[in-house]
Amino acid sequence: MVAAAADSNARECCGLLLGTTGHIATAVPAANVAATPERAFEIDPATLLRVHRDARGAGQKVIGHYHSHPNGKPEPSPRDAARAIENGQIWLIIADGGISGWQAVSADSDSNALHGRFRPLTLAVQ
Ligand SMILES: [Zn+2]
Repeated sequence: MVAAAADSNARECCGLLLGTTGHIATAVPAANVAATPERAFEIDPATLLRVHRDARGAGQKVIGHYHSHPNGKPEPSPRDAARAIENGQIWLIIADGGISGWQAVSADSDSNALHGRFRPLTLAVQ
């Protein structure tokens, strides 16, 4: 993911995360079809459909997604918060050669949530 972010120059790269609760098993890259990919991302809907279908067949779930921030900011942006629709989804942000993890939560469940939407996650590689 870090390599993909570096290769995408000033554009945001993105993809989907497959696994089970609390465990990311696979990252699947997707085309960024946003109109302004240098400051936004939108996962290619065809890839989204295919990955959801394949995951069901393999006993996995789409548990979140990743995207990069070419501006180097490691936390979700207010724009990200506006697009975080589903609670519980994992958001990985790739910025400045590192990866930070976040989970979408409701403001009611966590009053300290960033932009009222995200709580930080601790990532561990197994
Ligand atoms: Zn973002």
